[in-house]
Amino acid sequence: MTREIPGDPIAAIFAALPRPELSAKTGFSGNRLNRHGDRRDDAAFLAAQEERARFVLFDGAALVEGDGAPHGLYHHARPADIDPETRVYCGEDADGPIYAYALRATEQTSDVGGLATTPPSQQPLRPFAERFAPLDAALGTLAEAASLTGWHVRHQFCAKCGGRTRNEQAGWRRRCEECGAMHFPRTDPVVIVNVVDPGTGDVLLGRQERFPEGMFSCLAGFVESGESLEDAVRREVLEETGVPLGTVTYKASQPWPFPSTMMMGFEAEALGREITLDEVELAEARWFSPAELRVMARNPREPGVLSLPPALAIARTLLDYYLSAR
Ligand SMILES: [Zn+2]
Repeated sequence: MTREIPGDPIAAIFAALPRPELSAKTGFSGNRLNRHGDRRDDAAFLAAQEERARFVLFDGAALVEGDGAPHGLYHHARPADIDPETRVYCGEDADGPIYAYALRATEQTSDVGGLATTPPSQQPLRPFAERFAPLDAALGTLAEAASLTGWHVRHQFCAKCGGRTRNEQAGWRRRCEECGAMHFPRTDPVVIVNVVDPGTGDVLLGRQERFPEGMFSCLAGFVESGESLEDAVRREVLEETGVPLGTVTYKASQPWPFPSTMMMGFEAEALGREITLDEVELAEARWFSPAELRVMARNPREPGVLSLPPALAIARTLLDYYLSAR
């Protein structure tokens, strides 16, 4: 049998694009696995892949730190007490196949089959992700693994009849044992927008109560049923700040595994500057000039210092792109 070339089958096309897409500059977007979507029912193929795989392991929403590069992401031995109901074949890169699992729920936070799973080895996902460079391909693999295993943990029962569901298609589908309904991994769409005053070039940013003090970011919100992405952008900004928007233009996307969001980034033209704050959603909103933004981009995230989100966030990609184009 001819061995398939591992890695992303569209990588060569991607590398030859005349101009890189802005999405390629967002954190978590650099996933270069060959997902083998057409082999997910091929039991012999999947078993052979698992024999030589590296493993990404989760305990609830935390990552169980592994024994190898990069940054302790991978376990090189198949962990003993994993929950097969959460097993996901993520795909293969040049270093081989990758599987993801969650620990059995009853084993969480306890001693697990000889694995070193004392609390220090269980890393909250976001700080763990910050060990990586934002464009690290392994960060994209981490996003895929975290979103899918988390989905399995949360979807053990059928939303239609309450029956138990079973893992199928190498972790890419669940089927209800009772009524046969099929369930697929969720991806929840969120719009995020760089709002620009076309007269001055100023940008509208907001600050939520939970943000680090001094940090401002682009406005964002979940897309609701029955609206276009552009309408969701206009509605969110109007609700949160009272600022009406004209033209809305798509810029970039980003997988965001907290727990399984698709961030969709836009730039929009403001039709006014007056701010009426929704104090439930935002602690503060204001306009910043490009000169102020450039200072904020260099500032550390410290209390009392104005700053922008870290490079991992698509808000930062959108703002850096805006500043570079001016
Ligand atoms: Zn059912």
